[in-house]
Amino acid sequence: MERKNAWQDLTPAQKEELSALCEGYKAFISSAKTERECVDESIRLAEEKGYVPLQDVIKEGRTLKAGDKVYASLYGKTIALFHIGTEPMEKGMNILGSHIDSPRLDLKQNPLYEDTDLVLLDTHYYGGIKKYQWLATPLALHGVVAKKDGTVVKVVIGDAPEDPVFVITDLLPHLGAHQMSKKANEFIPGEDLNVLVGHEPAKKDKEAAEAEEGTKEGKKQKEAVKANILRILEEQLGIEEEDFLSAEIEVVPAGPARDLGFDRSMVLGYGQDDRICAYTSLAAMLEIPTPARTAVCLFTDKEEVGSIGATGAQSRFFENAVAEIMDRLGQLSDLSLRRALANSRMLSSDVSAGFDPDFPSVNEKNNSAYLGRGLVFNKYTGARGKSGSNDASAEYMAHMRKVMDDAGVAWQTAELGKVDEGGGGTIAYISANYGMSVIDSGIAILSMHAPWEVSSKVDIYEGKKGYAAFLMNA
Ligand code: MN
Ligand code: MN
Repeated sequence: MERKNAWQDLTPAQKEELSALCEGYKAFISSAKTERECVDESIRLAEEKGYVPLQDVIKEGRTLKAGDKVYASLYGKTIALFHIGTEPMEKGMNILGSHIDSPRLDLKQNPLYEDTDLVLLDTHYYGGIKKYQWLATPLALHGVVAKKDGTVVKVVIGDAPEDPVFVITDLLPHLGAHQMSKKANEFIPGEDLNVLVGHEPAKKDKEAAEAEEGTKEGKKQKEAVKANILRILEEQLGIEEEDFLSAEIEVVPAGPARDLGFDRSMVLGYGQDDRICAYTSLAAMLEIPTPARTAVCLFTDKEEVGSIGATGAQSRFFENAVAEIMDRLGQLSDLSLRRALANSRMLSSDVSAGFDPDFPSVNEKNNSAYLGRGLVFNKYTGARGKSGSNDASAEYMAHMRKVMDDAGVAWQTAELGKVDEGGGGTIAYISANYGMSVIDSGIAILSMHAPWEVSSKVDIYEGKKGYAAFLMNA
């Protein structure tokens, strides 16, 4: 049952469509490198297509009807878009659920310090990373600083061509013999992931002036570089050191997503897990006509750390948004809300591990995902005897086969690695708690969770096509 390479069947017109889609995708992941930026960019793209904020509909006491397009977001980190269908909500929705948080380094609350005339930012990594991959590579800072006066300063430094970048230094090989003999997971301790951000001390005369004010003279002399960095932060961002206490700044790989390969057939980019599924879901969502069953795109936060908190998939945020929408449709009761959720169908849209010829031993060839063979369906995930898995029913999988085949979508099935080789999970099991039909379905990538991940453009194309087919016909 080998699935064929999807490039073979593309018409010239489809290739052009593929190209345009992937340009949009690269632009999206090049600028949206945090969950907040993904939400902002999704709202911008959705509003261009007529989506309006649900909170405005509620505030103005308006009702909703079939064909209306609304979105709800929470704390700027999770968002649900709804295209209201012609059928009553209690018949169920077709939901594409993906996550928009990606592995990275977060700045600590008290991050800034000076050591031997160098100024560094202390971090705490987020999600599953191989820490050594973050050394000696250009880094950017993306995030927000919330100030006591209620203002929120956006920070994006390191991605414009004229911007400075940042780095975590590594040891030279000449002195690295001891380091090189360590196991990869001990190579660089998490506590040592410190980002180099400055080196030039504040001018002497300025120091002297400060010393004359009679405060902390010795300290200022010793930390002249930090003082200079603080001056720059004040000048350029209007923030002071204490403002780091209420900031969310993420250290991410600097630079845009790029075409990969002589044939430009692949994309090399940061955060493709899982923005590749989010973007293709959004592209499908924004192009469909009014569906029968209400179409939903749900982008969640905190998947990489357990889907917890107000903006993770375990939050009541989505259920509350559905209740508000049913209320605006005049369809809300406790029972009808339960029915709407239970009768829904969902693709838990998350990336799969593509088969890597450099690391063949972790996969079983007949049940692996391959780059170029289309949208991947994982009936189940989990580890050690499918533990922690959402196992989709055979009947639901059969329904998906029909939906995908009828729409001419290239698709494949896979497990994440060999039995007992490892494993992983997604948000699938959480939504399945409502009793809805859920299956994992996403795009295969190489170097998952590395600073730069690899995807195939034809899978992006087939993924978007499959997601559109799901929204309209599942
Ligand atoms: Mn993921
Ligand atoms: Mn992941």
